[in-house]
Amino acid sequence: MMDIGQVRELFRRHGLRWTRQRELLYAELASCVLDHPTAEELLNAARSKDPGLSLATVYNTLEAFSESGLCRRLSSVEASGPCRFDVHTHDHAHVLTPDGRVMDLPRELSQRLMEAIPRDILDEVERSMGIHVDRVSMQFIAHPGTHASARVEAAAL
Ligand SMILES: [Zn+2]
Repeated sequence: MMDIGQVRELFRRHGLRWTRQRELLYAELASCVLDHPTAEELLNAARSKDPGLSLATVYNTLEAFSESGLCRRLSSVEASGPCRFDVHTHDHAHVLTPDGRVMDLPRELSQRLMEAIPRDILDEVERSMGIHVDRVSMQFIAHPGTHASARVEAAAL
């Protein structure tokens, strides 16, 4: 867990003004308890520590965090679903389960997967589409299976 000095330093580096509510929300977002929370889940988690917190403040704060690169916004797979927020800003793959959970693929596996994308395919994507690829985002739409059930459950704890 980061102490207040580390959070202030992080905010300063990202050009974010420090406020007590922002610090509280960042601490909740960075805690392992919530995995990729929605704004409402974050509000529910933080409200016990600050009953005056509003959903609007949470949204504005997450907006500021996303813009400054302190977190990433993940759009929902369902068109009408809420966005989720990810405090891990390195490139990594996600596993989405039918109950709406979003989990990180273990870092080492994510890294191997990203590195396995052939450079010539990326080059061709860029050439044929006339774009420059900034990063690749990957999601596994999955359900607990015979091999994975134990791990999916473990990740939910
Ligand atoms: Zn993630």
